[in-house]
Amino acid sequence: MSIAVENVNKTYGKQQALKNVSFLVNPNEILGFIGPNGAGKSTMMKIITGYLPADEGRILINGMDVNEHQLEIRKSIGYLPESNPLYFDMYIKEYLEFVAGIYKLKNKDARIKEMIAQTGLEAEKNKKIGALSKGYKQRVGIAQALIHDPSVVILDEPTSGLDPNQILEIRNLISLTGKSKTIMLSTHIMQEVEAICNRIIIINNGEIIANDQTGNLVSQANSLINTISVEFDRPVDLDKLETIQGVTKSAFVKGNTFLLQSNSDTDIRGNIFRFAVDNGITVLSQQKMEKSLEEVFHELTTSPSGSGIR
Ligand code: ADP
Ligand code: MG
Repeated sequence: MSIAVENVNKTYGKQQALKNVSFLVNPNEILGFIGPNGAGKSTMMKIITGYLPADEGRILINGMDVNEHQLEIRKSIGYLPESNPLYFDMYIKEYLEFVAGIYKLKNKDARIKEMIAQTGLEAEKNKKIGALSKGYKQRVGIAQALIHDPSVVILDEPTSGLDPNQILEIRNLISLTGKSKTIMLSTHIMQEVEAICNRIIIINNGEIIANDQTGNLVSQANSLINTISVEFDRPVDLDKLETIQGVTKSAFVKGNTFLLQSNSDTDIRGNIFRFAVDNGITVLSQQKMEKSLEEVFHELTTSPSGSGIR
């Protein structure tokens, strides 16, 4: 199933949380929805799931307007809200039975068993939710979101607050689930997106500022500028380094290591080598630096400072 977000605006009092947001999620895609805190991620997800009305614009799930087909849409969407509200006094099974009841599932017992196995809750299944670790509570939240086998799954920061092992387990679970469903997950962790998402949308201050395949975004950012890290055997003046043919900028890193920048169409590595030979300096190492998704994200979501080389 696809998700189409069309020109959505949302204001809380004076605070405009979403500014004319539009995007499309294709069937069976795992979309990473990333942005700094307060960017509007949770607001967008609440609107998609029909828990919050938009001021303007509309959401279509497989062509159906969320506001006009609320009951049908609820059946085909699974949602893990950011705060993961669970009933701590309930036992895992009891809670899943309660959720299965809301969806009026026919094969309740079999489905609950299946979900407990799929989300790795087997060993803890006889505990009360309140007694579970954060990672296991999150699994219950995911089981709750998937129990009715929805085609669209919206996960708001599914790994936040988990330890590294729990993060990996939850990511694996999402990757496996995503093979047959359309998934949208929000996060502010870049590695998460690189690890499991096909596509990435970056939101900042309520506006979409990037929407591309995960790999494209990184290669595009890297296609504009070349950065070489070079280590010499002795200190060299920055002014002198900028006389190297093709070098547009230089910066000191530490010791005798520098970053040298050029336009992407110029390979300056040979020039650096010749500069060193001409000046009786030895190049100990040279390395092309690739921008990570994390750096691309940082650049896109912070205002340009004009300082620093990268
Ligand atoms: P994110 O999930 O990306 O951190 P949110 O969607 O939660 O962002 O919030 C977007 C903006 O809207 C923030 O500035 C936040 O303070 C504001 N906001 C969110 N919910 C409310 C609310 N119920 N009342 C007033 N302002 C809100
Ligand atoms: Mg949020």
